[in-house]
Amino acid sequence: MTGALGFKARFSEALRLALISRLARELNAELTLAQLLQRVLHATAEALGTPYASLVALHGGELVTAYVMGGDPDRDPLPTMRAVLAGGLAGFVLHNRRTVIVNDITSNPLWLPLNNEPASPQAGAALAVPLIHAREVVGVMTVAHPLPHYFSADAVSLTTTIAELGAAALAGALRRSEALYAGEMFANLFDAVIVPVLLTDLQGAILSANRSACDFLGDVGQELLRKNIAQIHGGTSSWPEGEQLTQLALGRELRFRTVLRGLRGDDLPVQVHAKRIRSQTQDCIQWILHDLTPELEQDRLREDLTAMVYHDMRGPLGNIYSSVSALRRLLADHPNPHVSTLLEVAVRSEQRVRYMVEALLDVQRLEEGRKLLNRTNTAFGGLIQDAIEQVEPLAEEKRVRIRLVMAEDLPMLYIDSNLIERVIINLLDNAIKYSPDFGLVTLSTASTGREVLVHVKDTGPGIPPDALERIFDKFERVRGRNMPYGVGLGLAFCKLAVEAHGGRIWVRSNEKSGSTFTLALPIEPPATTELPLLGGDMSARASRE
Ligand code: ADP
Repeated sequence: MTGALGFKARFSEALRLALISRLARELNAELTLAQLLQRVLHATAEALGTPYASLVALHGGELVTAYVMGGDPDRDPLPTMRAVLAGGLAGFVLHNRRTVIVNDITSNPLWLPLNNEPASPQAGAALAVPLIHAREVVGVMTVAHPLPHYFSADAVSLTTTIAELGAAALAGALRRSEALYAGEMFANLFDAVIVPVLLTDLQGAILSANRSACDFLGDVGQELLRKNIAQIHGGTSSWPEGEQLTQLALGRELRFRTVLRGLRGDDLPVQVHAKRIRSQTQDCIQWILHDLTPELEQDRLREDLTAMVYHDMRGPLGNIYSSVSALRRLLADHPNPHVSTLLEVAVRSEQRVRYMVEALLDVQRLEEGRKLLNRTNTAFGGLIQDAIEQVEPLAEEKRVRIRLVMAEDLPMLYIDSNLIERVIINLLDNAIKYSPDFGLVTLSTASTGREVLVHVKDTGPGIPPDALERIFDKFERVRGRNMPYGVGLGLAFCKLAVEAHGGRIWVRSNEKSGSTFTLALPIEPPATTELPLLGGDMSARASRE
């Protein structure tokens, strides 16, 4: 046959072997996808002497890229290759996963007239082979020659050998290009994310910082890359250590607030979300930083504003109180009984608002962590008597009896007596408020040697177990019918005031027999007391020692 002779005439067996071993060596290197397609195709075309050759790379049956030998280098071969895969010879080979020889392309409908491809013959023979790796068709190579019946069995055998060699290399190049693409996508995404993100190794050495992190931390010259992340937090702020870091490395996510020290030396309050991620090349920790500066600024503004409002409300409230009190005196003998009732309502309402404003101011002051300036050595018995006197009118109104069981020899306590007295008033007030008419409230004290305990027990409706802790939060109330008026600030104040003394407060409750609130105050003041700085309190300290 002419074709077979033509092919045989070009290459001896020895030359073909040399060509295959050269190709095998070339493919052994890590080539890019484009380089690999070119090498395989040139080797095949050279061996077979064909002017036209094409190779499509496929992933999951989809066209990834293609190379056409003899084609116009400026033209994208993909549209033509797509058409060939959809209805031409390469598509047939892809779906049937076998080599096909077309001895006369003029009479075979699978050979599409490729007018765009000048090297593609209009007549002659064609040979197409699948490149199969791990049972997947990763490519289809097509060669064509203007002579009909050009491809002999030897040509098919040689092309199949090249295809086998090429398939493994092509699968590797496809995998690498996918990884590269994913890596590139990740790098682009990482940089484009508008929140600051840092990547470190598992020991905290910074591997990369996105653009936003560089701007946020003031890095203009990749300085961050020479640091460990633990070095960029403000000295006194919290930073995960020990067990937390171990857990992080084991895959547990961490969220915490801290203050970072920017490279310009500025303090940057942040919420950090750290988690371990697996990148292409190594395991790292991703640290996402959320800048808290605007939120903190807003909080401060809001607090300043509310403090100002509460503070300024005291003046007008005081005026209302003194005016109504004066009216009450002046109209004490008024013949119309409704007058005194109305004035009574006005006085009480003013009182309620005043208590509320005071409570809000107290809570705010304590939340800000301001120091207790008025601590003195206090005899606890007297303080409790004063508190009971304050709530007696309310108890009388509800016919609630207050029983007092005082432990003997209670030690003096070094406390802000005004604050603690108001805590006890709050507890007694609640106990009376929530007790039924004719109920009983028992206040008892005890000393454990380290703490003085005050129990306030009532015969009220009790508190559901799920609310036992939350009622100490601001504005938390137990919802229910016939509940007395309140805003949920009293217990929040009690908790803050007791904790400011290094003490504790809790409640035990039984929905049948009422609730018992207990506060525990340390007999020794906490070690952090900063009295030496406060001239006014030195005497108090001295009298205690
Ligand atoms: P307020 O009494 O103004 O609502 P508090 O902070 O003093 O605010 O109390 C919070 C909530 O705790 C109350 O709304 C009530 O539901 C519950 N509570 C407090 N003391 C008692 C008590 N002695 N018995 C039953 N429930 C109580």
